[in-house]
Amino acid sequence: MTGYVIAMDGPGGSGKTTIARSTAMQLDLPHLDTGAYYRAATVAVRRAGIDPEDSGSVALLIEGIDLQYDQGRMMLDGDDVSAEIRSDATTLAVSAVSAIAPVRSRLVALQRNWVTEHGGSAVVEGRDIGTVVFPDASLKLFITARPEVRAMRRAGEVAGDQDLIRQDLARRDTIDSSRSVAPLQRAEDAVEIDTSDLSIDEVISQVLNLVNRET
Ligand code: C5P
Repeated sequence: MTGYVIAMDGPGGSGKTTIARSTAMQLDLPHLDTGAYYRAATVAVRRAGIDPEDSGSVALLIEGIDLQYDQGRMMLDGDDVSAEIRSDATTLAVSAVSAIAPVRSRLVALQRNWVTEHGGSAVVEGRDIGTVVFPDASLKLFITARPEVRAMRRAGEVAGDQDLIRQDLARRDTIDSSRSVAPLQRAEDAVEIDTSDLSIDEVISQVLNLVNRET
């Protein structure tokens, strides 16, 4: 398959990453986690000691960083930051960094290049893939789950108090959905899948059915 992009958007804890990874494996397509770019940009901001709310300085810094995403690992200026991008400190600051327009345009360009360099077909997950990054994607999915289910899943992935995890998810959802540039929203032509009461296998088989219908 050439030029076949599956866009998967949705909030944290919806199961998006697991579903994107499995779908990519089943279809033998590369998988791009765009959240890793915003997280790596946030690591750069923290390392430089810049306030994530200082949009001018953040934009200037991000313009000059080198990001390489390969096999699920992220390199920032030659340094493997795959673990650091998942830290609490990064998660806390990422929504502020990703609300800055010039940051988004730089990272979107890198993401599109990555797909081109990998042959033009991929499973791409994020918040704005079907709306901004690949508005002409072959298949657009909007993956959701009820807030309490998302908090429970996140609690299973990261150590910590479940109430705090729920609060953090709600805080990020609010910032990600209400920002003026590329907010998290379902593309008009996206198929919505609520994963709250489904197993991973059930979701994957729904996705594969949709793929078969499209091709
Ligand atoms: O998907 P993940 O939770 O790793 O994303 C981390 C953050 O990166 C999100 O909360 C959001 O602020 C930002 N993001 C974004 N656009 C994307 C992917 C992620 O703004 N396409």
